[in-house]
Amino acid sequence: MFIPTREAGLEALHDFVPRAGSAYARDRNHDLGAARENVSGLSPYLRHRLLTEREVLGTVLAHHSPRASEKFVQEVFWRTYWKGWLEQNPEVWRRYRHDVDALLAGDLAADHEAAVAGRTGIAAMDAWVHELVETGYLHNHTRMWFASIWIFTLGLPWQLGADFFYRHLLDGDAASNTLSWRWVAGLQTKGKTYLASAANISRYTDGRFAPEGLATTARALSEDPLPPRAAIDPDDVGGTIGGRVGLLLHEEDLEAASLLEEHPGLASTLAATAVGADPSGRSPLGASAAVESFTAGAVADAAARTVDATGRPAQTLPDALPSSLVDWAASEVLDTVVTPYAPVGPVAERLAASRSALAERGIDLVTLRRRWDGDTWPHASRGFFPFRERIPELVREL
Ligand SMILES: Cc1cc2nc3c(=O)[nH]c(=O)nc-3n(C[C@H](O)[C@H](O)[C@H](O)COP(=O)(O)OP(=O)(O)OC[C@H]3O[C@@H](n4cnc5c(N)ncnc54)[C@H](O)[C@@H]3O)c2cc1C
Repeated sequence: MFIPTREAGLEALHDFVPRAGSAYARDRNHDLGAARENVSGLSPYLRHRLLTEREVLGTVLAHHSPRASEKFVQEVFWRTYWKGWLEQNPEVWRRYRHDVDALLAGDLAADHEAAVAGRTGIAAMDAWVHELVETGYLHNHTRMWFASIWIFTLGLPWQLGADFFYRHLLDGDAASNTLSWRWVAGLQTKGKTYLASAANISRYTDGRFAPEGLATTARALSEDPLPPRAAIDPDDVGGTIGGRVGLLLHEEDLEAASLLEEHPGLASTLAATAVGADPSGRSPLGASAAVESFTAGAVADAAARTVDATGRPAQTLPDALPSSLVDWAASEVLDTVVTPYAPVGPVAERLAASRSALAERGIDLVTLRRRWDGDTWPHASRGFFPFRERIPELVREL
């Protein structure tokens, strides 16, 4: 269903563009099965930045007026919003990681085993589990129903549901996934939960599913107060670039050309380039075979598109271990490794370990944050609605 190349992403974008206007606004909430003409299916490409938010919105806005494409534009900005919010509240991610570790290390309820095996007896849930495991994708509305039934009907911990999604979604993203699960649970917008109903499911699946026995109330979960928000660093370049410079791409951002365009002169100084990824860091249980395969394909595609100043193609690192990165940087006699900034999540955790390992060899790791992220994230400090108000202005600036 999803071919892990930038070219396939661009093709999907061009196919979808005519439908990104009023048709999207009208039909996007329907999950009518595998055909999926009503949504873009671009999330695995956006998530790995095989396509960038800027070019997706630029293409859509070249075909539709801001008014006609307003809904689609807003949906793309949901991704940006979640990332900016988590960046300012990293404690939410730390707690989530801790909770998943603790829950998976304990005795898992039989209900949990049945749920992830697609044996709940709720036909819709069981079908969605199979669809997720087989395709690595679920429609947005279905993700909402799934999370709601998991938490409020099955009474399972939201963290384990988020972990199950994260292991299997090709677009699995620390911010969009964790915060959407929290939103359903009533943690993200405090006290406001999302309750799935049979009537709504039946209406938007065209009668394919009408589950019986769903919870009829959804009491919001609660948590200890969060610490004050962390400020977003105003500087898009984290560190000082000097000496012999190499570029390392990773699974958060696999589009070197547009990143380097934001730093004039850098491309012509690159002494070496490499790509390294490891989706198994998503969960103590690793990532699904479909996610591993999509990521490996995306890495190979990025390596083929990325060259150093002499035109030498990027090296694919055998794994994402700090030692492999250090070996590559040392063999290329680098003084600085520049890499796309990794937002809160497993890649940022991995880069923190790599930074120390490189420093021991006297090599600096410098992060390059895209202007898109630097300009938008600070506005994601409160709810989505104040953020949404700024979208027209952000689109004009970006
Ligand atoms: C419980 C739950 C978990 C989710 N987990 C993820 C996740 O791990 N990764 C992920 O990318 N999205 C996640 N989403 C958001 C959304 O479901 C997917 O982005 C969307 O279904 C992808 O399909 P599409 O590309 O056809 O979307 P379209 O409707 O065509 O939207 C276009 C793009 O906008 C972005 N987008 C759309 N809706 C959302 C949203 N609600 N939140 C954030 N971004 C959005 C995506 O990048 C998407 O590709 C989750 C939603 C829920 C309710």
